[in-house]
Amino acid sequence: MLRPVALVLLLLAPLRALAVETLRIAIEDTGGEVKVSGRGLAFGPDSEDASFVPIPSGQAVIRRRGAKLEVNGAPVVDGSVRFRAGAAASSDAGVPGDEPIKAGGAQVRGDVVVRPYRDGLQLINVIPLEDYLAAVLGSEMPVSFPPEALKAQAVAARTYALHKKLEAYSNAFHLGSSVLHQVYGGVNREDPRTLAAVEATRGQVLTYELAPIEAYFHASCGGRTESGHDALQRDLPYLQPVDCPCGKLPASRWKASMSDAEVKSALKHPAQGLRVSGRTPTRRVLSVTLGDGASMGGVELRRRLGYTRLKSLDFEVERTDRGYVFSGRGYGHGAGFCQWGAKALADDGWDYQEILSHYYPGAELQQLY
Ligand SMILES: [Zn+2]
Repeated sequence: MLRPVALVLLLLAPLRALAVETLRIAIEDTGGEVKVSGRGLAFGPDSEDASFVPIPSGQAVIRRRGAKLEVNGAPVVDGSVRFRAGAAASSDAGVPGDEPIKAGGAQVRGDVVVRPYRDGLQLINVIPLEDYLAAVLGSEMPVSFPPEALKAQAVAARTYALHKKLEAYSNAFHLGSSVLHQVYGGVNREDPRTLAAVEATRGQVLTYELAPIEAYFHASCGGRTESGHDALQRDLPYLQPVDCPCGKLPASRWKASMSDAEVKSALKHPAQGLRVSGRTPTRRVLSVTLGDGASMGGVELRRRLGYTRLKSLDFEVERTDRGYVFSGRGYGHGAGFCQWGAKALADDGWDYQEILSHYYPGAELQQLY
């Protein structure tokens, strides 16, 4: 377990010197030339403590020349270059700018890094982790949920993002462009309830043996969460089955009917005779046996039949004339934090710390910054 601890120390070192933890999100890959513009545009090396040189025109054309870059025709010494808008007004070098910056086809807040990538260039958006959370929280949990549930979700999402960052620590970026739409297209970006939950838990993360935990979460477990091992092949001490009040909610039950033809085409296998052949200790389907005796894992079955149709692996299956009826409980893989359970617990007066220690037993809440 030395590696994660060492990485956390690496992570913490810059945090002590600078106020802001950032995430790096890949925006797009372009050809050999890209334009970047913004009010008060400046550029510098791609590092947290860089000093920035103003570009008075507010516009930069970045060209690839062999393995190196040129900015407005002048060669750049470092391999990549970082742009910030409104840099003249920013006194803190470690804080990405909040002024919008246009880069290629995107408009973002924070810094933009341009680096040589394959035959062309890659654009990376560097944004403060807390801004990222405020933007995505509303797409991860309904904003109408009680404040303590939203706070618990904010801590789980922050911890998850930091874990991803540590996993990709030496990479040029931590998250792919699919989350960028969530950040800048999210309708809930400015919702005061998500902002309040993020602000109230600022810098708080869940750790185990000093490293941020793998804070998996899901919509609804159906009454008992699943172990990390059975849900995701992540055998972790803080991802163990726990009881959950979401099972009492009628909405946690679901039914799905599928014809033989549908099942056959999804499984690419004749499915007549599909039956459950093994269950996990929480009674979720571990494996099924198909008509010809072939066996398939539950996780694979759910992937092939579709995560939105086969909402969970906690189901019974019945044969009908022309197919199957699946009757189940819960929505999602079931490991870790249960969102509907958190809502029920918060409605019952639990605070976010109590909710988190229920779903991640043994994990510690730490103020990281
Ligand atoms: Zn639950």
